[in-house]
Amino acid sequence: MEKDYYKILGVERGASQDEIKRAYRKLAMKWHPDKNPDNKKEAEEKFKEISEAYEVLSDPEKRKIYDTYGYDAARQSFGAQGFQWSNFTHFDDLEDVFGDFGLDDLLRSFGFGDVFSYRSSSGRSSRRARRGRDQEVQISISLEDAYRGVEKAISIQRYEVCSACNGSGAVPGTSPVVCPECRGRGMVTRAAGFFAMQTTCPRCGGSGQIIKNPCVKCGGTGRALAVKNIKVKIPAGIEDGTHLRLSGEGEQVLSGRSGDLYVLVRIKPHPIFRREGKDIYVARKISMYQAALGCELEVPTLSGKAKVKVPPGTQPGAKLRLKGKGMPDVRGGAPGDEYVQIEVEIPKKLSPSEAEALKRIAEERGESILAKARSFFGFL
Ligand SMILES: [Zn+2]
Ligand SMILES: [Zn+2]
Repeated sequence: MEKDYYKILGVERGASQDEIKRAYRKLAMKWHPDKNPDNKKEAEEKFKEISEAYEVLSDPEKRKIYDTYGYDAARQSFGAQGFQWSNFTHFDDLEDVFGDFGLDDLLRSFGFGDVFSYRSSSGRSSRRARRGRDQEVQISISLEDAYRGVEKAISIQRYEVCSACNGSGAVPGTSPVVCPECRGRGMVTRAAGFFAMQTTCPRCGGSGQIIKNPCVKCGGTGRALAVKNIKVKIPAGIEDGTHLRLSGEGEQVLSGRSGDLYVLVRIKPHPIFRREGKDIYVARKISMYQAALGCELEVPTLSGKAKVKVPPGTQPGAKLRLKGKGMPDVRGGAPGDEYVQIEVEIPKKLSPSEAEALKRIAEERGESILAKARSFFGFL
């Protein structure tokens, strides 16, 4: 499909370099994926499209090819797959617009690898490390731990700067040498059809250097997998499914910020307590006599045993509240309550004296009862 780069940037065909730059920056602001949370995919595609247009129109040579021979000729410089982010040479423009961290986030949302090489428009080649990848780990804790707050030791596997070579990728004592393919320029010139095109050096990936004696531990990449033990502070009152963010404890990169570690905290089901928000529920069975006459019960709470008064005439399903005996508020507010849910048991079997007493009460109240009650209980 033919692309009209001028139309994409919304500039006239005779636009000056300044106008083209201004148009690109404006559109870059508009299509930043963070500003388009509802249509991220579209924003990313648009962002790539305006960047392709800018890549061509901001370069007088490429622009001339495009103006003279059209889209197909211009896109040849990008290789068989068309424009890729690795073809883009104006990340410094984006850095101006979004700032260093903003650019990192942008690159991250585009799914770049950890180490990303790019050239600035001045032709200078720089090896850019983006932010390290975030990692997630899940831990399970008991409701008691969630109630009190707890510190948990976890162990994760993550990429760290190689301890053997300190990230250089070369055997200690040796250093990288100038890439013979590009002679340190990071770029090579290739014949593409009628045109001579500059592309990133395939040998050194644009860094201009190659490693002659790669470090054994990291294989020359400068990073190696390591096991790291980390203590995680879990605040009292934490909710099930909370992600705790440990800034900088994710993957490391050679230069640039480490990623973050997200600890997903799951709370195991409890054998007697059920949690609902900050409140705790516990079920308790009482007899119909206790329900009718009232009683005092000893019930478990997360802070030990407590007493609750069951008033006379308590109905099945009644909820008795123990104020402040629920979960602490993770944000420092008032704690929740505990509710004792009352179940009333109807006796399945009566002793002869119980049966007699109940029968007498029923008769006094004029209530009809089963004649069979006699034979059913086998007495009277
Ligand atoms: Zn190493
Ligand atoms: Zn090279």
